[in-house]
Amino acid sequence: MLNQSFWIHTGPTLTHGEPGKVEGRYDVVVIGGGLTGIAAAYTLAKEGASVALLEADAIMQKASGQNGGQCSTGVAQDFASMAASLGLDKAKRYYTAYSEAVDTVRRFIQQENIECDYRESGKLKLAAKPQHADKIHRTYELIKKEIDTNVAFYEANELKSEIASDKFYAGFLQRNALQLHVGKFGVGLAEAAIRYGAKFFEHAPVTKMSQQNGETLVETPRGTLVAKQVIVATGISQQGPLGWYRRRIVPVGSFMLATEKLDPKLIESLMPYKRSYVTSKNIGNYFRVMGDDRILFGGRARFAMSNPESDAISGEILMRSMIDMFPALDGVKAEYCWGGLVDITQNRLPKAGTHNGMFYAMGYSGHGVQMSVYMGQQLAQMLGGREEANPWRDETWSAIPGYFGKPWFLPFVGAYYRLQDYLH
Ligand SMILES: Cc1cc2nc3c(=O)[nH]c(=O)nc-3n(C[C@H](O)[C@H](O)[C@H](O)COP(=O)(O)OP(=O)(O)OC[C@H]3O[C@@H](n4cnc5c(N)ncnc54)[C@H](O)[C@@H]3O)c2cc1C
Repeated sequence: MLNQSFWIHTGPTLTHGEPGKVEGRYDVVVIGGGLTGIAAAYTLAKEGASVALLEADAIMQKASGQNGGQCSTGVAQDFASMAASLGLDKAKRYYTAYSEAVDTVRRFIQQENIECDYRESGKLKLAAKPQHADKIHRTYELIKKEIDTNVAFYEANELKSEIASDKFYAGFLQRNALQLHVGKFGVGLAEAAIRYGAKFFEHAPVTKMSQQNGETLVETPRGTLVAKQVIVATGISQQGPLGWYRRRIVPVGSFMLATEKLDPKLIESLMPYKRSYVTSKNIGNYFRVMGDDRILFGGRARFAMSNPESDAISGEILMRSMIDMFPALDGVKAEYCWGGLVDITQNRLPKAGTHNGMFYAMGYSGHGVQMSVYMGQQLAQMLGGREEANPWRDETWSAIPGYFGKPWFLPFVGAYYRLQDYLH
């Protein structure tokens, strides 16, 4: 079994990066080569700006290359609860941003002809407890009435045509959702950005930033860039002069296994529509069928950080959960098992704006495949002074008290959510 992301292992690497010294003066310097940074560089270069992107590692090696490849509409918070706490208008704005984000990914794939095993799938949220069925139904009704008619609800007996598992009590389908090979997509978008003139410097970690004559000096061990404007797209970065962001995002391990290739008839019998599936528990699962007939099964198996030992233990937990859900998969082997760090904010909503004169977007809280791409695009407009391009403009973002980048409280959070799953 390989302890590496399937997307990274089977995806391309960047072929047109800048090998030489890091130097030059640019309209915009983007820090971070995940989907946020790549989409920002792509949009800006296409609009004619001079852009350089600095990536500490190779591009697409962190969350953007480690996720479930599920690109779907809907915020991380439950829509009905969010409408109750933030008001219906704001909840609708946030939901719309997610729908537009899925459309943006679709458009970029089509515009640039990016071959990335793309397919329209829909996302099916599954009630894992009888009492969750009522909550999901309320959310479905509100969404259908207020904002999205492209949805459906299945009672337990109607669900059988969607999924061959007796573990679920209802299902809520949102049709605006797609699946993709994120490794192929991210590198494909980066190559497109380079075709429009962007310069990509890999293995160039930013170590220092300072102001000089109204411009920013962005330093790396390979040299320094001078930037008129800077975009910080560093996700849950653990390195560089980014302490302000580290005090606001909690990195939480999430884990994934990909099975061996399966008989298409077996897959057809379990998940005939090959949707993106997510279960309703706090410590739940997400899963889908991959382009080459594997099942990708993920979840917050444990409240732990990702490392090879932790990933292997999590893989075993995930395998047991998968077989519990689909007994027909007993005996199937896992060929890939990996983990990554999800970028969680306190209220599980993305954050974007300016800090110290630099623009940022991050903290997508496990719903970032589509939102990172969208925010990359929106950042390009925000740089031009269009504050309303930022759907998250009303969100304040305070440091988490007592937290300086090492999430010592994760075991307590894990225990809390396990208790919630047991009680409700
Ligand atoms: C296991 C897992 C499963 C997930 N599943 C899903 C899913 O199915 N659907 C979904 O919507 N979302 C999912 N997500 C979330 C989603 O992947 C992320 O929200 C999104 O990819 C974040 O993108 P980003 O560009 O902001 O950050 P990243 O992808 O983390 O990119 C940030 C980049 O910045 C670089 N960097 C950091 N510091 C520096 C520095 N000092 N100098 C230069 N470069 C630096 C890093 O090396 C990195 O490449 C999942 C995440 C994980 C970890």
